[in-house]
Amino acid sequence: MAGTLYLVATPIGNLEDITLRALRILKEVDIIAAEDTRHTLKLLNHFEISKPLISYYKQNESTKSAIIVEKLKAGKNIAVVSDAGTPGISDPGEQVVKSAIEHGIEIVPIPGACAFVNALIGSGMSTREFCFLGFLSAIKKERKEKLEELKYETKTLIFYEAPHKLKNTLKDIFEIFGDRNIILAKELTKIHEKFLRGKISEILEKLEIIKGEFVIILEGNDESKKELELKQFNEMSLEEQYKFYENQGFDKKEIIKKIAKNRNINKNEIYQYFLEK
Ligand code: SAM
Repeated sequence: MAGTLYLVATPIGNLEDITLRALRILKEVDIIAAEDTRHTLKLLNHFEISKPLISYYKQNESTKSAIIVEKLKAGKNIAVVSDAGTPGISDPGEQVVKSAIEHGIEIVPIPGACAFVNALIGSGMSTREFCFLGFLSAIKKERKEKLEELKYETKTLIFYEAPHKLKNTLKDIFEIFGDRNIILAKELTKIHEKFLRGKISEILEKLEIIKGEFVIILEGNDESKKELELKQFNEMSLEEQYKFYENQGFDKKEIIKKIAKNRNINKNEIYQYFLEK
């Protein structure tokens, strides 16, 4: 009989957040597949669990998924853990789940800590509807394009970000979204846990002294403002729209493509228009 694949959430800082069920499963499985075996070993040592570990990280996800599935098919029960929080959430996990499903393996998620859920529920922003975006691209152009796509989104927006990239990301958010309300959920579950609330400009001012891990929670666009902004944008002349995109750092080819898409017309027509001008 085939084994079961468990996706076990681990703490995001405070070791007390491991669940009794997670501990039981980690003790019972045959193998633990870990994002960083040294990191997981510390957790296991703390709870006096001794288990064979195999590494399963982003760069070896597909080859290791195949190996894990073979072991599951041979009857082994395997737990996947990431360095912190819930596997598969901006962490490895997705691929092995897909492969296991293809081979008819049973999947059992073991719930626990997840940084964005805690950041959201403590943020005070709307929890009714939200978009979790994970990490934005490290490439500035791609990052700005994604943010621009989200500009009119009315749902609460949630991002992960590495501490050293936080300032630049907040500057891009400010440039595209204006001075919206934002919350940085810092060092969740740890000694220096804090929610920094305010306008993006206020948070940016304080940023030099901010260190640690963060979740960014951004207020969604106001429904009525969204209508108005979209209307204003659609009423702009071609030249004004061109300038708008140019100011955001897009090149001529990209601008023409964007305007054509917005207006639902062929980009050659836009190109011709500017050529004649
Ligand atoms: N799988 C994890 C989860 O369930 O939340 C997320 C892993 S992702 C590689 C790491 C990012 O999650 C960090 O860059 C940060 O944005 C966020 N994060 C993780 N732990 C955190 C904490 N204790 N406080 C605030 N943010 C945290």
